[in-house]
Amino acid sequence: MLKKIFKAVSISLLLLLLAMFGKTLFTHADEIPSEKQLWRFENANGFERFSQAIQFQVVGDDEGANQEANLVELRRFHAWMASSYPTVFSKSTVEVINGGSLLITIAGREHVNASMFLAHLDVVPVADASKWKFPPYKGVIQGDTLWGRGTLDDKNVVIALLEAMEMYLKLGLTPQRDIVLAFGHDEETGGTGGAAQIAQYLKKNRRSIGFIADEGYGVMEGIVPGLNKPAAIVGLAEKGFATLDLEVNIPGGHSAWPKPDNASAVMVEALHKIDNFQFDARLDGPIRGLFEQAAPHMNFGYKMLFSNLWLTSPLVKMVLLGKEKTAATIRTTHVTTLIHGGVKENVVPPILKATINLRVLPGDDIQVLRKEIISVIDDDRVKVTLRPDFHAATPVSPVKGLGYDQIKQSVLVVFGDVAMVPGMVITGTDCKNYIGVTDRIYRFVPFRFNNGNLSGIHGLNEHIERKDFYRAIDFYVDLFNRL
Ligand SMILES: [Zn+2]
Repeated sequence: MLKKIFKAVSISLLLLLLAMFGKTLFTHADEIPSEKQLWRFENANGFERFSQAIQFQVVGDDEGANQEANLVELRRFHAWMASSYPTVFSKSTVEVINGGSLLITIAGREHVNASMFLAHLDVVPVADASKWKFPPYKGVIQGDTLWGRGTLDDKNVVIALLEAMEMYLKLGLTPQRDIVLAFGHDEETGGTGGAAQIAQYLKKNRRSIGFIADEGYGVMEGIVPGLNKPAAIVGLAEKGFATLDLEVNIPGGHSAWPKPDNASAVMVEALHKIDNFQFDARLDGPIRGLFEQAAPHMNFGYKMLFSNLWLTSPLVKMVLLGKEKTAATIRTTHVTTLIHGGVKENVVPPILKATINLRVLPGDDIQVLRKEIISVIDDDRVKVTLRPDFHAATPVSPVKGLGYDQIKQSVLVVFGDVAMVPGMVITGTDCKNYIGVTDRIYRFVPFRFNNGNLSGIHGLNEHIERKDFYRAIDFYVDLFNRL
């Protein structure tokens, strides 16, 4: 009997191992296309024009104090674009949306399923310019590096698109379908005046958009565990956003004879419970796709781990939950961002307020999350209100077909040996405003990002290398030629 059981267990184990090895061995990377349609060129003075673009200061300021100055600067910026890219501006239809954003349409042979490229003209403020290696708005080129605010977020995309389109049109080429360049002017402060208006305008005019490409990811180096080559990550979705306001209202009194269950004690207890709680983690959707598609590019151990997620996903989840950035890709996160209470050192505060910010995974229902938080707090003295500005995660774009396929081909031609994988953006981009314009939204820009340059985005010493800028132009010319 025992022998029989042993035999059965050994056979099952053997079958399991065979299944794992089978999946591991038959997982292959995509072939790199042999036709090298590389439009290798070093557009004369392109990098210098990029440096000039850095000098236009359209700075996103949450208080809106810069609005007037920004509109003046935007008009100067638009005029500079028109004179620097005369072919683009003379051979396209240019529309100014809401005074600051630009919609540039290059007519193709057909006017359905246009290809749309987003970028934004504004930048985030500089916290302390004196700490920068070079002044952030001078556009200093030293050797082969350009320094300044916006060199990676997002004037690099604006200028690379314009340089590429100028070159493409000068070559006398016409795309199959319309190409639309849409430059918003207030992405860094939510996009309500720019992207949201452009999206509304497109819907109102029933413009047919086949796919949208925007920022979010690029060619990422050293961020996918187990991958020894760069990963060209295309964000198929972005997480949602919700804010919960907590309030405890209990009569206060003199601090010389406090009650034990005063407002601050009740709030602290509630926040403590919330801190010790996590929403469920799920390895599905674009993130599961990321690991499945990265697996063929990995060494045997990782390949085995990631190409057998049907078996190994609990282990992989544990690894991903170990670091905050990867943890944020597989679950809805929450954190206390504001705490208010008290008026005087000797008065027990009658009202305590706190705010919890949630970043919502695709598939999670915000009302269900709210109820979960309420049941975790489990104290009806804590009033929980959902702010009305919440939005669920975006829909997940298809991982093949129009847009994705062409981006993939251009990535493999221009960037060579990289792993092309899907992903999900854990912050927010302008794309959320374009839901309903098309169901194909791809968050990818053809720039290299790694631990060396990522800290410059919204941070100190933002910079870009000349060759990375020209490679992006190559990419867009190649891509336009496939559309
Ligand atoms: Zn940006």
